Amino acid sequence: MEETKCLIIGSGPAGYTAAIYAARADLKPLMYQGMEPGGQLTTTTEVDNFPGYPEGIDGPTMMEDLKKQAERFGTEIRWGMVTNVDTTERPFKVTTDDGAEILAETIIIATGATAKYLGLESEELFKGGGVSACATCDGFFYKGKDVAVVGGGDTAAEEATYLANMCRKVYLIHRRDELRASKAMQKRVLNTPNIELLWHHEVKEIVGTVEGFNKALNGAILFDNRTGEERKIDIEGFFVAIGHTPNSNLFVDKIQMDDTGYLITKSDSTATSVEGIYAAGDIQDKHFRQAITAAGTGCMAAIEAERFLGEQV
Ligand code: NDP
Repeated sequence: MEETKCLIIGSGPAGYTAAIYAARADLKPLMYQGMEPGGQLTTTTEVDNFPGYPEGIDGPTMMEDLKKQAERFGTEIRWGMVTNVDTTERPFKVTTDDGAEILAETIIIATGATAKYLGLESEELFKGGGVSACATCDGFFYKGKDVAVVGGGDTAAEEATYLANMCRKVYLIHRRDELRASKAMQKRVLNTPNIELLWHHEVKEIVGTVEGFNKALNGAILFDNRTGEERKIDIEGFFVAIGHTPNSNLFVDKIQMDDTGYLITKSDSTATSVEGIYAAGDIQDKHFRQAITAAGTGCMAAIEAERFLGEQV
């Protein structure tokens, strides 16, 4: 059976950074890229907030650069999915979708999280052309413009206040008459004059123009879920903030996770509840969710895996 000192599952900024560090530490890491090679950043356009790119860089190119950097130091990168991990004994027996079985001395889980969307056809059409699930990533493009955020949790509240600093007006669309966000965040939202809360509203459709690859969103049609009454708001950006789903199904009942499925790591560490298994990036982070923080925890995971292996001899 194939053996590796370090198996990395997932290929976003966390996975690639873990690979760069693990490869440079001579762990000869093996990476399985997962369902979406390159991760969430491959679905964004311009990345302007990753240090080192003064002119910005588009998401897919940045991920391709990270991949090349990981390969340069000897990471073996494979297409495909890990389908099972036996966490009961070390080395961990890992099965992949092409039927391979691998014995891994350490595992770094960097499977990320997936933003939830409303599921509207028009929302899909304008993804990357007005519809976004990350205000920190894309808010800048809507400086001085009118935008909307949908959701009522901490993410929606945070995104709305972040956008309110740069946009002319922010509509916060929520399906109930009470925010789920923490009291402190609610207060910030309610005290921000250019945020208009649209209680009991849901989105029927996103509207705009599409000419070939050029898409320009110019509004959203909403309805009041008590009366059914419809209205159109004029906006250029639409931010979906209705939660994320951590990609942790593989580890249910195997690794400790919180009640929303995020893997729990020890304080100041990426160590999970299973010795020798580390978690980096959005799979263990519901607060920051940035490429740079994912990369930071990827680095931590590789260093911790290396130290752990060093202690075994
Ligand atoms: P939440 O699950 O807390 O909130 C999701 C929001 O979206 C809810 O208000 C929900 O409405 C709404 N929603 C869900 N599905 C739909 C839908 N189909 N249509 C319309 N609205 C919908 O997700 P968050 O991402 O906000 O937060 C996740 C976790 O991360 C929470 O524990 C939060 O506290 C934490 N967090 C903490 C932060 C911080 O401390 N700084 C920052 C960000 C997140 P409803 O209320 O009606 O269910």
